[in-house]
Amino acid sequence: MSLPYAEPYKIKMVEQIYRSTQEEREKWIKEADYNLFNLKSEQVYIDLLTDSGTGSMSDKQWSAMMLGDESYAGASSYYKMKDAVKNILGFDYFLPTHQGRAAENVLFSAMINKGDVVPGNSHFDTTKGHIEFRKAKAIDCTIDEAFDTTLNYPFKGNLDLDKLEAVLKKYPKEKIPMIIVTITNNSSGGQPVSLQNMKDVKALADKYDIPVFYDSARFAENAYFIKIREEAYKHKKIKEIVKEMYKYADGMTMSSKKDAIVNMGGFIGMRSEELFKKASVYNIMFEGYITYGGMSGRDMNALAQGLDEGTEFEVLEARIKQVEYLGNKLMESGIPLQQPIGGHAVFVDAKRFLPQIKKEEYIAQTVAVELYIVGGIRGVEIGTILADRDPETRKNRYPELEFVRLAIPRRTYTNSHMDYVAAVCKKIFDNRHEAKHGMRILEEAPIMRHFTVKLEKIK
Ligand SMILES: *Cc1c(COP(=O)(O)O)cnc(C)c1O
Repeated sequence: MSLPYAEPYKIKMVEQIYRSTQEEREKWIKEADYNLFNLKSEQVYIDLLTDSGTGSMSDKQWSAMMLGDESYAGASSYYKMKDAVKNILGFDYFLPTHQGRAAENVLFSAMINKGDVVPGNSHFDTTKGHIEFRKAKAIDCTIDEAFDTTLNYPFKGNLDLDKLEAVLKKYPKEKIPMIIVTITNNSSGGQPVSLQNMKDVKALADKYDIPVFYDSARFAENAYFIKIREEAYKHKKIKEIVKEMYKYADGMTMSSKKDAIVNMGGFIGMRSEELFKKASVYNIMFEGYITYGGMSGRDMNALAQGLDEGTEFEVLEARIKQVEYLGNKLMESGIPLQQPIGGHAVFVDAKRFLPQIKKEEYIAQTVAVELYIVGGIRGVEIGTILADRDPETRKNRYPELEFVRLAIPRRTYTNSHMDYVAAVCKKIFDNRHEAKHGMRILEEAPIMRHFTVKLEKIK
């Protein structure tokens, strides 16, 4: 008999969480204008809003923090992080930034101009925001398989090489500053990109002389899926796979709040010294001097340690198995999910959950609000509200997929919490036929509206 799986860690510190009543939550969510970002964290029982910066650091990371060097220039913490970026990812040049979007801001200031196009695989919202803010256009070249949530395809994050080549052919080289490969592909459901696809994208990019950058927030989870699902790599260590992945990139942006398991931090990795010099000017203007770039020394130390831990098989296995555990429980109740289950989150397919609600009534937001009211669970809408309006026509963009994402923080909740989440989802799913209407927007910002949007329930 094989023994059951159990986590390779024990818990040294606990944090109390408040278990509210449904009456309390009904009042609070109304006061928050039905926007889950507006809730106070004490009003949330299980917070699955994001896995970004919400993970639990290890004893080794906490002890590294005590050794942080807070010198303005040339801190030892900077060199620790520089060594980790070189040894684990292979980049000679790097700039620390306070988080992932700051890395995008600095890099894109150096590379993207008005009228440019940036092909990629379902660009992340902040990435798209920073591209569109510069009056450039993000073009999605994700494979069609990604949009069929029922299809169990191992690498739904992949770029479609024909779609990509059509873009590279259509626009002059000067208008395409880079191709962005997002690993894992967040917006299409935490789905990985295969190493074969990374190689093929790089070959195509070389043919047209365009640099390739990886949006790397969940690069280690991507490497885990390569090991598990891509035959040629099943005997490789995660760190070996990571090294190989980055052979096919000219640079990277990183939100360290994900796979480097810190609460704040980011960076840019580069091969080109010329680009490093150009980006350094913007880093100094927007982030801080090049040896700290918006991070304190202790945070850089924790990040260096986190990059090392986060690329260990055991750490990744525990994390991804917990996500699968929740996903499998939901599927047992018949709840429609993106298939296969992603690395960092379970994506509930809201269109199949509530087929009777019109797309104009924000289906995924309707499900997300119900999860909060019934169980105190905070997920997030990845649907029409997030997709925002078309920058030219100002019309709502209706994405093919409407998800409620339940993101699991790293090393933070137990599987009893996952059982509770699954029970709440089942209760709502069993009563789904009672829902007649969705929501209406009362107020929204001109860009990245999902963070501040105000809504009401349609009666
Ligand atoms: C989180 C994330 C970002 C932005 O990073 P922040 O640290 O939140 O600013 C960019 N791209 C991807 C794929 C991400 O997951």
